[in-house]
Amino acid sequence: MFTELSLHERLLKALAELSFQEPTPVQAAAIPHAIAGEDLYIIAQTGSGKTAAYVLPILQRLLDDDSKPLAPRALILSPTRELAQQIHQDIQALARFTFLKSELVIGGEDFKVQAAKLRKNPDIVVATPGRCLEQLAAGGLDASEVRTLVIDEADRMLDMGFSEDVLTIAQACPEQRQTMLFSATTGNAGIRRIVEQVLREPRWLEL
Ligand code: AMP
Repeated sequence: MFTELSLHERLLKALAELSFQEPTPVQAAAIPHAIAGEDLYIIAQTGSGKTAAYVLPILQRLLDDDSKPLAPRALILSPTRELAQQIHQDIQALARFTFLKSELVIGGEDFKVQAAKLRKNPDIVVATPGRCLEQLAAGGLDASEVRTLVIDEADRMLDMGFSEDVLTIAQACPEQRQTMLFSATTGNAGIRRIVEQVLREPRWLEL
C-alpha cells in the first residue's frame, strides 16, 4: 500500500484520486531509497510506473524542504518532447494538492515565452537535452539549485546522440545532488559511462 511508504497526506490524496492503490514493483523498490536521497540506477520498462517512482520522491522531498531558492530544485531530462509532456502532466496530477509547480523546457516552443515561464520560479523543470542546454546558455534556466536530477530513458537518450549534452547538463548542476537514472536496457557501454560520470555510488535496481 502507498500508505506504507510514509508519503505526505497531500500525495496520498492525489494517488487516491488517480485510483492508484498499490505501488507497482518499481515504485515499491525505488521510492524509499529515492526519498532517502540515494543515487539510483534503475532498469525498468515503459509502463512499469517508473514516472511516479521518481516523481513521488521528488515531491515528497520538496514538501520537506522549506528553503525557497529562486531556481528549480529538480530537473528531469527526457529524450523526447512527447515523453517530457507526459511527465509534466503526471507531475501536475500527483502535485495537485500541493503548491509545487513544474515547467516544460522543450524544443518547438517559443524560446522567450519559455524563458518568461522559467522566471516564474517553477520547483521542477522537465526538459529535453537540446533546449535545456540552450536555456542554460542563455541564462533562462539556472541549474545551480538542482538537488535532484533524473535522466529518464537514458538508453534512448544515448541512441539519439544526447550523451555529451547529458554530461554537460549534469556538470551545470551542483555536485551535491541526488541523481536517478532510468534505462530499459542494461550492459550498454554508453550508459555505463554516464553512470560512472554522473552518479555517485548508485544503488542498482532491476525490476
Ligand atoms: P509509466 O511507466 O510511468 O509510464 O506508467 C505507466 C502507466 O501506469 C501510467 O498510465 C500511469 O498513470 C499508471 N500507473 C503508474 N503507477 C500506478 C499505480 N501504482 N497504480 C495504477 N496505475 C499506475
